[in-house]
Amino acid sequence: MLRPCGTEAAYARHRRRGEPTCATCKAGVTDARRQQRRAKGIRPRTTPQHGTYSGYIRLHAATGAEPCLPCLDAHATYLREWRARGRRRDRRGSWVEVALDYLETHGPIEMTQLIEAIQERHPEVVRDTIRQSVNRFVQDGLAWRDDSERPFLYGVSDEV
Ligand SMILES: [Zn+2]
Ligand SMILES: [Zn+2]
Repeated sequence: MLRPCGTEAAYARHRRRGEPTCATCKAGVTDARRQQRRAKGIRPRTTPQHGTYSGYIRLHAATGAEPCLPCLDAHATYLREWRARGRRRDRRGSWVEVALDYLETHGPIEMTQLIEAIQERHPEVVRDTIRQSVNRFVQDGLAWRDDSERPFLYGVSDEV
């Protein structure tokens, strides 16, 4: 019997068939992944903190609310460090936000799907830039990567 949408099985079925994952399945899997991370002892901080980069994204950018000063500072610092780490001084800083925004909107998502979604609206952004941004998010804890099964899935952390 087919498991209904919203379960891991249904989510995996969409992916096996190469179908887009539906909202119910995305929500279900996001929830399941969250519980798995909790079970592993990754401590959730349910409320994003002001004065952090994720606070800027989740409390302000995502909701359209005017950023507070501590969040603006944290955001500026993050982008400054991001650019300092980059070899090329290009518009990478702005892609950081674009990529994170897409990840939040479309996730959990495969890298190739994420790149397609971004390039649909921003054809000029290079695949590698997106890939690097997302991998950096994972390193920084802003995003997670589920590498239990290929292709890997990516999503925005709710525990940063
Ligand atoms: Zn579904
Ligand atoms: Zn704030």
